[in-house]
Amino acid sequence: MTEAILEARDVSRTFMVSAGFLRGKRPLHAVNGVSLELKRGEVLAVVGESGCGKSTLAKMMLGLLSPSSGSLLIGGKPVESISRMAIARTVQPIFQDPYSSLNPRKSLGNIISLPLKVQGDPEPETWRKRTEEIMELVGLPRRVYNNYPSQLSGGQRQRVAIARALINRPQVVICDEPTSALDVSVQSQILNLLQDLRKELGLTYLIISHNLAVVEHMATELAVMYLGRIVEYGKASECFDNPRHPYTRALLESVLTPDPDLGVPDTHLGAAYPNPLNMPAGCTFHPRCAAVLPQCARQVPASVIDGGVKLECHLFDKASEK
Ligand code: SF4
Repeated sequence: MTEAILEARDVSRTFMVSAGFLRGKRPLHAVNGVSLELKRGEVLAVVGESGCGKSTLAKMMLGLLSPSSGSLLIGGKPVESISRMAIARTVQPIFQDPYSSLNPRKSLGNIISLPLKVQGDPEPETWRKRTEEIMELVGLPRRVYNNYPSQLSGGQRQRVAIARALINRPQVVICDEPTSALDVSVQSQILNLLQDLRKELGLTYLIISHNLAVVEHMATELAVMYLGRIVEYGKASECFDNPRHPYTRALLESVLTPDPDLGVPDTHLGAAYPNPLNMPAGCTFHPRCAAVLPQCARQVPASVIDGGVKLECHLFDKASEK
């Protein structure tokens, strides 16, 4: 059995946040008991609406944030036992906004080669050549080596961010909304580039996105997140072809429209996204669920397996009260 490169075991992260004027602080359970694993060569997409906890999960998997409970493993070792430098050699991020993640005062050559310097690469005489090679690989012409981020388009800036992430040849890349800050016309170019680089360099991806359409053609595994929990998790082909959880179905209905003139389709979600400081009882999705059952408002659904897909929904739990 292939060992997971990245693994989250029952991971939770709670923040204490202000509940309002004179109301003091209350716990916000951003991530609540999440278990996931990423094996070599897989593309695991974590999808869900803003505020569901997916970016917090990504930060924990990058070692940038500690979990409140549970454990995170890289290559089978607990994250806290691995140095930041060693984590950076194995796992690299690509963030949503390529402009704010690039230093505007540094040339592209300096930005892309910086990880070589930070890691104390022993062959400085090769840095320029290796920087130009990775630029070529991500589709940046060598003539922009001395340019600054402000001289590039959004798509080119994201290529710089990708080159910087890959120059030390990491095993895993965590892409947090890699195309959401880009024009629609360049989104598919960046997704195709990520797909090509995956094959060429043997990369493993964790992709965080609010948009199922973005990950549909790349993901090999899919985790659907809602209010800090993974509500559906399995092979991406199975989840896309036969979505089981009502939330996954609503997300899919929101993107699978053949007519671009129709704009953003109705998600058929019955209510607004709940306040994470005031979570609904029972199944937290019940106020918005089109298939709600009488027990959903009072009973938390157990985790069950259906056709190889892990789910949290009473519809699939044979032991649930009817
Ligand atoms: Fe809907 Fe009930 Fe399933 Fe929650 S447990 S998704 S409310 S049917």
